[in-house]
Amino acid sequence: MKIFPIFIPHLGCPFNCVYCDQDTITKSKSPIAQSISDNVKKFCDNNILEEKEIAFFGGTFTKLSKKLQQQYFDAVNKYNDTLTSIRISTRPDSIDKDIIDFCKNNNVRTIELGVQSFSDEVLSATKRGYTTQVAIESCNLIKKNNIILGVQLMPGLPGFNTATLDETIETTIKLKPNFVRIYPPIVLKNTMLENWFKDGEYSPLTLEESIEITSRMVGKFKKNNISVIKVGLHSDIEKDSIIAGPYHQSFGELVRAEMLKTKILNNFEAKTLKISNKDISLFKGFDSRMLKELKAKLRLQKIPIKISTNLKKDNFIFSDVEPDENW
Ligand code: SF4
Repeated sequence: MKIFPIFIPHLGCPFNCVYCDQDTITKSKSPIAQSISDNVKKFCDNNILEEKEIAFFGGTFTKLSKKLQQQYFDAVNKYNDTLTSIRISTRPDSIDKDIIDFCKNNNVRTIELGVQSFSDEVLSATKRGYTTQVAIESCNLIKKNNIILGVQLMPGLPGFNTATLDETIETTIKLKPNFVRIYPPIVLKNTMLENWFKDGEYSPLTLEESIEITSRMVGKFKKNNISVIKVGLHSDIEKDSIIAGPYHQSFGELVRAEMLKTKILNNFEAKTLKISNKDISLFKGFDSRMLKELKAKLRLQKIPIKISTNLKKDNFIFSDVEPDENW
């Protein structure tokens, strides 16, 4: 699937959420319908035979005026063929049956909901403006209407604790969205979270905590056949705008390494560890962080390693074969 992203930062949002600065995150301005139309045409012409999705990210699409939503839809659907569909992002309290019908009539195939948490404690402390019940009803309504449902989750918001995390994971699994994105929040300049952080009212997760929590979430979702399409914010946020929090350019790789490490520890045998050549960077990258942790937990000076080109990434075998190297 080829995705053409269109960013509409803060457009339609009823207020600025306490952690959000879309201008910093997306670094783009809301486009006018004509420029969308021109760019979509180029994209569609270049990918005629591919399945394509035109994705509106960043604001609250369904809170735009009906007129502007229609202009955006028309700008895309002008070039619509059976291989092209639309994705929009919105808030859980900005979905109802009329909105769903309007979306369906305009070729929307996927709706991503910025749920962030399925805990009332977190939603209230974060001043999101809706309850868990509202979020659950919106998810169910989207699924009932055969629209692909994506859920965005942010572990580590104000009010977060082990119980609210478990509540969020369990509710997500029960709702069975088609996919999930996980973003541990970071404290950005010019947000309410920055004030709360400076006043000592909010402490973000550490990088270690956020890697451990995110990998636990990914593991549980995968086990329940819920696809996780992205973890962490993208890699080109301006450093100056980050006040605090668990931001890392390669957050997704750190989470993969954590998951692989946990799997190895849980299945350890005193034999040669056969790993995929595609996973070498997980062991050796980031100053060999994962390898060092593995050796420390196993109380080993060296780990005998065999590199395999046949094993798929994120897989390993303990085997009696001779090692290629000792790491
Ligand atoms: S988090 Fe979503 S709803 Fe809130 S301000 Fe940002 S884009 Fe708008």
